[in-house]
Amino acid sequence: MEIVAVANQKGGVGKTTLAVLLADAITRDGRSVLLVDLDPQANATRACGVDPTRGVTLGDVLLAPRRFALMNAVRPGALGFDVAAASTDLAGKERNRTTADEHHLGELLGDVDGYDVTLIDCPPSLGALTVNALAAADSYLTVTDASRFALDGTVGLKETADVVRTYFNPELRHVGVVVNLVDRTLESDRRVRDLTAHWGSAILRPPLPRRVVVKEAIAAARSLWDFGADRGADEQCRLVERIADQVVGTRAR
Ligand code: ADP
Ligand code: MG
Repeated sequence: MEIVAVANQKGGVGKTTLAVLLADAITRDGRSVLLVDLDPQANATRACGVDPTRGVTLGDVLLAPRRFALMNAVRPGALGFDVAAASTDLAGKERNRTTADEHHLGELLGDVDGYDVTLIDCPPSLGALTVNALAAADSYLTVTDASRFALDGTVGLKETADVVRTYFNPELRHVGVVVNLVDRTLESDRRVRDLTAHWGSAILRPPLPRRVVVKEAIAAARSLWDFGADRGADEQCRLVERIADQVVGTRAR
């Protein structure tokens, strides 16, 4: 099972959106996917049509580790892949950090099998939850927007990943930086140039444009692939498939 964390301490850059779209693309490519929603806001859980207020969630699993296995929080999602549901009490894990529990999520994932790929949607912070995700993962994907503080966000994540690599997970790889929410504005162009100047070939191609239909699909817990040519949905799907190839690697091009 390959584990990929989708991260950035900045909120609103498209981590959840991309995690859901990648899970969808990889599932459509014939691999089984588990999406782990590690954000107390539970947006990925809802985007899979799952109610985060019902049943066992990752909050229960991570806060009462001897009572539940991670699979107790897993539900079949509406998009064809499973989701390990988040809930607001997951925030307690971020706050009540116990010492030496950086490997907690990794240990729980060690008991999970039956999936080819696990994607972890990280919260917008570099706290205990994101550290757990980076410690558990084979690789991580940086997602950023093309706004004023975009570069700072990506660099902050790299610094945290370097610390995790040193102390907890020497094999952690960086897949690269996905630039999302790109507009046809001078500001957006300028930020993409800044990011490219800093990251060079670590910037994944293609960048992902802002498209209203993406927001709509996620909000309705519907697959973007079911929107056909509606407002460029099909083009966005092709772009996401190209990113998915670089995240998990083996799709025939
Ligand atoms: P994060 O998980 O980083 O906080 P989200 O994935 O929740 O970010 O995205 C923030 C908002 O931007 C959401 O409303 C989402 O629907 C929207 N969004 C993300 N990517 C796109 C895109 N490419 N085009 C249009 N809207 C997008
Ligand atoms: Mg999110």
